[in-house]
Amino acid sequence: MLQTKNNKSYLNVVDGNQTPENFQPTPEITNVWKTVYKNFRSEFGEAVFRSWLKPLTLQASYHGTLEVSVPTRFMKDWIQTNYAPRILEMCMDKDSNISRLEIVVIQKAMPIDLDDSDAETVSPAIKANANALAQEVELSSPLDPRFKFENFVVGTSNALSHAAAQRLVKSESMPFNPLFIYGGVGLGKTHLMHAIAWDLRENHPEKTVMYLSAEKFMFQFVKSLRAKDTMTFKELFRSVDVLMIDDVQFISGKESTQEEFFHTFNALIDQNKQIIISADRAPNDMQGIDDRLRSRLSWGLVADIQPTTYELRFGILKAKREMLGVEIPDVVLEFLALKVTSNIRELEGALNRIAAHADISKDPITLETTQNILRDLLRSHDRRITIDEIQRRVAEHYNLKISDMHSARRSRNVARPRQIAMYLTKQLTARSLPEIGRKFGGRDHTTVMHAVRKVEELIEEDASLAQDVDVLRRTLTG
Ligand code: ADP
Ligand code: MG
Repeated sequence: MLQTKNNKSYLNVVDGNQTPENFQPTPEITNVWKTVYKNFRSEFGEAVFRSWLKPLTLQASYHGTLEVSVPTRFMKDWIQTNYAPRILEMCMDKDSNISRLEIVVIQKAMPIDLDDSDAETVSPAIKANANALAQEVELSSPLDPRFKFENFVVGTSNALSHAAAQRLVKSESMPFNPLFIYGGVGLGKTHLMHAIAWDLRENHPEKTVMYLSAEKFMFQFVKSLRAKDTMTFKELFRSVDVLMIDDVQFISGKESTQEEFFHTFNALIDQNKQIIISADRAPNDMQGIDDRLRSRLSWGLVADIQPTTYELRFGILKAKREMLGVEIPDVVLEFLALKVTSNIRELEGALNRIAAHADISKDPITLETTQNILRDLLRSHDRRITIDEIQRRVAEHYNLKISDMHSARRSRNVARPRQIAMYLTKQLTARSLPEIGRKFGGRDHTTVMHAVRKVEELIEEDASLAQDVDVLRRTLTG
């Protein structure tokens, strides 16, 4: 039997003649796993929990590694990129002996449902070969009633995509297939997709229009994999006239889904079905996707949505003001259009906050109240902390070179500041652990996680280090 470094025994496996099948987790491990279940569920919600965490089966535990299995390669990839760092963090929080999570694919290890079975609740609807409409209800994501053409303000930055969308809904034949709309976050891709779907539903009720997020597509696909029923999955999409997939960049990197997507995609185009896709970048810039898929995606029309112009922002604000029915002077709208340039979602958010505030306080909206209400928002717009900046500041503070932040040197006087920089990055930016690792000389995300925990500990124990961190944080957030 193997022992972990501080002699706590974790293992009932791994001495060679015990197979994973008869692995009996120790009470400690069972406990860790129960906590992960609980935390994961509350953090990610029931649907994500069922699709991704529940299928994991504890397989073995050795040398601080927790090994879990999943039934398919696809699930492994998806969990690995999306949830594994967080799951590991949860394990580590519960038991500091654990330092690694290993996901293995064991095909026959279909998960046994511990509580109820979603296979029971989902599959019958699919299996019943219900008519297209029922399927559409089951699969489609809901459409936002605000996202219609009449509420979409057109400017130079989104004119091409808007025109393409209009052309598509107005034509009897298919002017281009697929239509690929791309642009940055919050610039109106989803709005435009929904607008197309609403329009088609209204003017072509005979057509089955299916709109779904790529993530939902993945969910459905995994469900069908678990039920060993990819045939029905393909069938489902065959019954559709217009298939719309939003945020298709989520599919990149997931080989088996891509493969499935590609086949579904080809089948649909061969059957003369309209496909509309959105993504955060152009097909050519999508990494981690199969070349065939990439080129097929650009066969039709590729239309972009550019970052907003001042005129468009002002126009959108005027339209929203009318919708809200509140009195807001033009100078306020001009100010917002000038200041909140990141994207339309934030612009709307700012306007909503002002309107809500005025509604509660009953005070008229002026430029001054606006500046007050949005002070924090405007500040965060003025300063967005970057990893480079953190690395530079920390290096300066400790008299190091910036390259030391990326180097492989491990001596304490370099490694410690580097850990502090990683810690600050985790705290002050929205970067994920793997991203941070990459920015710090291609380190593994577990190294980053370790650094974060280490610095947290040291802050408790070492007053001068705590002060250093505090000073750095304050200069950075300034
Ligand atoms: P994306 O999908 O590109 O991230 P969304 O379509 O969700 O962005 O748009 C974000 C918000 O901005 C939504 O509330 C949407 O209604 C609004 N919006 C985006 N573009 C426009 C536009 N041209 N006119 C009016 N509202 C817009
Ligand atoms: Mg969107």
